[in-house]
Amino acid sequence: MPEFVRITDVGPRDGLQNEAAPVPTAAKVALIDALAGAGLPEVEATAFVRSDLIPQLADAAEVMSTIERRPSTVYSTLVPNERGFDAAVTAGTDKVAVFTAASETFSQRNTNTSIEGTLHRFAPVFARCDAQEIPLRAYVSTVIACPYDGPIDPSAVANVVEQLLAMGPCEIDLGDTIGAAKPDDIERLLEAVTPLVQMDQLVLHLHDTGGLALACAERALHLGVRHFDASCGGLGGCPFAPGAPGNISTVALAKLCASMGFETGIDTIAVADAATTVRSLLNRD
Ligand code: MG
Repeated sequence: MPEFVRITDVGPRDGLQNEAAPVPTAAKVALIDALAGAGLPEVEATAFVRSDLIPQLADAAEVMSTIERRPSTVYSTLVPNERGFDAAVTAGTDKVAVFTAASETFSQRNTNTSIEGTLHRFAPVFARCDAQEIPLRAYVSTVIACPYDGPIDPSAVANVVEQLLAMGPCEIDLGDTIGAAKPDDIERLLEAVTPLVQMDQLVLHLHDTGGLALACAERALHLGVRHFDASCGGLGGCPFAPGAPGNISTVALAKLCASMGFETGIDTIAVADAATTVRSLLNRD
């Protein structure tokens, strides 16, 4: 039997959050339903964040209450703090995600606090997830390079990962936020973190800014990574590189996996159809 590679489609959250054009709630619901219907085992559906900061996702509760809930799909949501966690759980989220960074400057600019400040802010979410048996993902952004500080040493990433794991059970999601990684960078990163984290707890979140996301994914697959984020239609852009491609494309990644003999369970034609629909709403074609 082929080995399974788990792909989380983060397009409805990470993708749409970074798109300027507003998307109607019904179109978001249709996108999430289409992705689940296409066999995605996990969809990051939305975020419970302040609507004055991220108006694109102000309809989070309505999205969650309107989507069709397939038992074969995990519907996760991003939360910045305990208040967001409460709203997400009330809305029926299956899994929550919190976020920090490997770069101090990025953390300050993105979340208005230090890395330590972010950990302090979401420590209650770790405790609540543990008590309520809700799966938790912890994003570490800028794991390869920071738009302000330049290259990030893998040991800085390992340091943050170690602190996260000490806070409680969680999945570690390493984000190349600006898409700066080359395959050798991914190898060095994995050398630094895999002594700390189980492979089945590790997720890689690649951006295709430099056109090397697939090459990085291929190296990661060779090195044993079996869980990736991707975005239908490559939605997402990169806030620090206007006009650049966004997250690694779900279809391209699923096809890469298939070409290497892995199973993803994803109907790539159905994902491509969903991507075409949403990209036309965003005037991206
Ligand atoms: Mg992203």
